[in-house]
Amino acid sequence: MLSALTTRASSALTRLPRGLGRLGQCQLCRSWQSQPICAACLTAWRHPSRRCLRCAIDLPHDHPDTVCQACEDQSPEFDRAIVAVDYSGPWPGLLTRLKFQGATALAKPLAQLLAEAVCARRGATSLIVPIPLSKQRLRERGYNQSWLLAKQVGRRLDIPARVDVLERSRHTQRLMNLSAEERLRQIRDAFHVSPRALATLAGQDVAMVDDVMTTGATLNACALALLEAGARSVSAWVVARTPAPTNVRSS
Ligand SMILES: [Zn+2]
Ligand SMILES: [Zn+2]
Repeated sequence: MLSALTTRASSALTRLPRGLGRLGQCQLCRSWQSQPICAACLTAWRHPSRRCLRCAIDLPHDHPDTVCQACEDQSPEFDRAIVAVDYSGPWPGLLTRLKFQGATALAKPLAQLLAEAVCARRGATSLIVPIPLSKQRLRERGYNQSWLLAKQVGRRLDIPARVDVLERSRHTQRLMNLSAEERLRQIRDAFHVSPRALATLAGQDVAMVDDVMTTGATLNACALALLEAGARSVSAWVVARTPAPTNVRSS
């Protein structure tokens, strides 16, 4: 009898830490939550703004058109970019933790934010693909943050996501040290569609998912590769948008 009681008591004790283990602090307001970013913080830091329909850059309030001047002058290869937030406030810190510091649990709330931004404008999207890392970078980091986001967004919007469509051919140098022209050439040559994905790509409306959009050159190169391989249309879905590429380390 005594030993039965002791067994029950000790099993209750061993259950307790597991239950508590699901709780953690919100990364922004430090309140105790079951999610790494609480719902109140996700809403509070969103700051919806008026954006270019093509490249999602912030438009001045008095801008007369729905498209920015740069896109008027030269359209990107993708049809539209949708971003969830500006690369400012708490977002650079959170995205850095997701990308470089192994905080993979942040993918879920950040993907939720992106899925909500995309929801009304998802169009006929039939396939979600992440922007790939080179094999070397993937080995170093152990995961591709864009794939973590793409999987979660796909699950939320009920759209299939595939990691094996786009490939990064080689390890690009730290791009911010290069001239604009050399940077573009390197990026354009770096991406291709994997031969085994060609058959499934024909006629698909593809959304590329990434964590941060800077100049859009990477997304542009990937869109070009997807369109040349037979995709019907390509969109870009990105968590955060910045016009300042020097603030972000290249992936
Ligand atoms: Zn919070
Ligand atoms: Zn634009």
